[in-house]
Amino acid sequence: MLLPIGLVVLFIVAELFIVRGLYGKDVHLVHRGLLGRYMRRRHWEGFTTPMPWPLRSCVHYWEEPDPSKVVHEQVHVDQIARDGRIRFAWRYLRDWTHYRYHDIPYEAAAYAAEDQWAKKQAA
Ligand SMILES: [Zn+2]
Repeated sequence: MLLPIGLVVLFIVAELFIVRGLYGKDVHLVHRGLLGRYMRRRHWEGFTTPMPWPLRSCVHYWEEPDPSKVVHEQVHVDQIARDGRIRFAWRYLRDWTHYRYHDIPYEAAAYAAEDQWAKKQAA
C-alpha cells in the first residue's frame, strides 16, 4: 500500500517540479461553480496562503476576480516572498489576535495598495 502512495506523491512532486516548473512559484487558482458562486455571494473574492514546498504561495479567487483584488492578493504574494512562508503565517495569525482584520499590518498594506490602485484608475 505504501509503494503506490509513495509513487503517487513522487509523481505529483515531479509533475509540479519538473513538468510545470512550479518550484518556488506562486499559483493563482480561480474557483468557479457552486463553491465559487456561493463565496462570491458572501462578498469574499479571494485569499492567499503560504504553501509548502515546492510552491511558495497560492492565491484562491472565487469566480472572476476584480482587478483591485488581484492587486490586493499580489501584495500578500510579495509579503510571503519577502518574509518567508513561516514568518508570514506566524505574524499574520499573531497580529490577528491583536488587531481587527483590516488593521492587521499585512492587510493594511494590501488594502492601501488596493486604494492606491483605485485612485490611479479614477485619475
Ligand atoms: Zn488580504
